Amino acid sequence: MDQVIIINAIRNVSNQKIMRYLVVAIVILCVSNCKTEEKPTPKPMKSKIVVAHRGASGYLPEHTMEAKAMAYAMQPDYIEQDLVLSKDSVPVVIHDIHLDEVTNVAEKFPDRKREDGRYYVIDFTFEEIQQLQVYERFNHENGKQFYPNRFPKGKGNFRLHSLQQEIELIQGLNSSTGNDIGIYPEIKNPEFHHKEGKDIAKITLSILAEYGYTSKSDKCIFQCFDAKELERIRKELKSELFLIQLIEFPEETKQLAYFATYADGIGPWYKQIVDKKVDGKWQFTSLVNDAHDLDLKVHTYTLRADQLGEFSSFEENIKILLFEAKVDGCFSDFPDQVVRFLEKQ
Ligand code: CA
Repeated sequence: MDQVIIINAIRNVSNQKIMRYLVVAIVILCVSNCKTEEKPTPKPMKSKIVVAHRGASGYLPEHTMEAKAMAYAMQPDYIEQDLVLSKDSVPVVIHDIHLDEVTNVAEKFPDRKREDGRYYVIDFTFEEIQQLQVYERFNHENGKQFYPNRFPKGKGNFRLHSLQQEIELIQGLNSSTGNDIGIYPEIKNPEFHHKEGKDIAKITLSILAEYGYTSKSDKCIFQCFDAKELERIRKELKSELFLIQLIEFPEETKQLAYFATYADGIGPWYKQIVDKKVDGKWQFTSLVNDAHDLDLKVHTYTLRADQLGEFSSFEENIKILLFEAKVDGCFSDFPDQVVRFLEKQ
């Protein structure tokens, strides 16, 4: 059986039971294909890295263990974890500080919303959070699924989990398969956490250290949108991890020299790199060159096969960013397709 055939089959399967068997099958296949007797030795970072954005989130609800196991079998270089603290300070792997766009929290705990009508991860204990069903992402106001052609909302039996649980999955698979797939954690909204009396950076760094991630040669890249907090992580908390400064707003692209004082790379939105098409050729901003001049790696977000925007195909999208704009890596909801594309080069 071929791994690619199974992954393609999974896209067409909505029966949850069959799908779970397939995810298990992929992992077993990967184990049988990849197991070696020798322990992996740390290798230098590849010239183009693929990050499974929230797991294999194009195929299964984001940040579920199932999405991470499937992503693992697709052989990206890193798997991403977004992190928000629970009431009892457990780093939960979830993209938003709110629970209500990926879970059934509004039905399960209807009286636990704040005045703004939203349900916050930080208001629930980890034990309560684990009781929630996870759904494919939807709009909390109208209930509509965000990507209509992805995994059907409300189907299946998915749960949220902690950073520790996910590290144990990835490290466990690394050990049983002989692969060396890394983690790529992002602390979400540290300022919000500080206002709530919690230090998400400190808590996360200490868990990472417990699991052996302390230096740039460990397979862990740490990312954050908040520049002050990432600078604090390097200078005050003395982290020696590989740090990526995420960039949200165009004006931040002018702060590269400052970012280079503490970060090892930047993570810009791809639209800050790709400018426009002139006479059939894509033009680029100077961002990638400017970053490389300062010795900063560039990992761009987010490549999606079902949201091509200005590109005519997903292959074009990958090729333009990775080979013409010359970024060093990308986040993708469809890591299998990016890995496959790179294998053909
Ligand atoms: Ca993220």
